[in-house]
Amino acid sequence: MTIEFRSTMDVELIDHMGSDESIARSARVSSGTSGTEEQNVGLLRMLMRDRHGSPFESVTYQFKVTCPIFVAREFFRHRIASYNEVSGRYKVLEPVFYVPEPARPLAQIGKPGAYRFEPGTPEQISLTATAHKSAAGWAWEHYEWLLKEGVAREVARNVLPLSLYTSFYVTMNLRSLLNFLSLRWAHEDSKVPTFPLKEIEAVAKDMDRLAREVCPVAFEHFDSFGRVAP
Ligand SMILES: Cc1cc2nc3c(=O)[nH]c(=O)nc-3n(C[C@H](O)[C@H](O)[C@H](O)COP(=O)(O)OP(=O)(O)OC[C@H]3O[C@@H](n4cnc5c(N)ncnc54)[C@H](O)[C@@H]3O)c2cc1C
Repeated sequence: MTIEFRSTMDVELIDHMGSDESIARSARVSSGTSGTEEQNVGLLRMLMRDRHGSPFESVTYQFKVTCPIFVAREFFRHRIASYNEVSGRYKVLEPVFYVPEPARPLAQIGKPGAYRFEPGTPEQISLTATAHKSAAGWAWEHYEWLLKEGVAREVARNVLPLSLYTSFYVTMNLRSLLNFLSLRWAHEDSKVPTFPLKEIEAVAKDMDRLAREVCPVAFEHFDSFGRVAP
């Protein structure tokens, strides 16, 4: 099979439940009041400012994410979510591998917690692409060889690298999503600094863009209070 090399991540919003109004409705049950649209904007502002988080759990999203295994592995550290992933035991995997695009910073300077990343030299850029491609090609060849010799998929897959693409569905509520976004996007409005991997940051940016269409008011307040999850 022909090997495909990519540098991009794919994020689709598959399904969602709830809206800004759902958040306000959940919050208002405590006082038994109802409010106008304008009053709800103010209510959501107060909830975000005071980190009164549970009403934000009233909104749920399901995304489909296609990314390399090294990104998925970081993603799955976010436990307040539900996941279903493509199985390398039940199907033959697709030969799609990650290769960094030339603009991806390659030089890591500093110490843990305070790294700075800078562009690679032309030699580093070329070596990085070559090494990714040859490692993926070698691994894929051995994966196919093992399958051809009748070795089970669940064993043959062990020779494949972290750069292989995987796909998964993730279902998470808005509160958990905001926590994810606060950690995985070094946004200019973030009050608390974070240093995410570039590739998971690309996923976070797409999730933010898609999710804010569903709850524009909640996201506006998230931004204005420094992108701290409630
Ligand atoms: C820049 C960066 C670098 C990182 N580096 C490393 C690393 O080197 N090694 C490593 O192992 N991880 C690393 N992580 C992962 C990190 O430690 C978290 O596991 C990950 O970001 C998930 O965050 P979370 O626990 O807030 O999310 P979730 O698991 O979705 O949890 C959401 C919230 O629920 C609460 N919660 C969930 N589970 C518990 C629990 N068991 N007890 C108490 N409260 C809970 C917490 O309030 C938590 O914030 C890194 C993360 C980032 C963003």
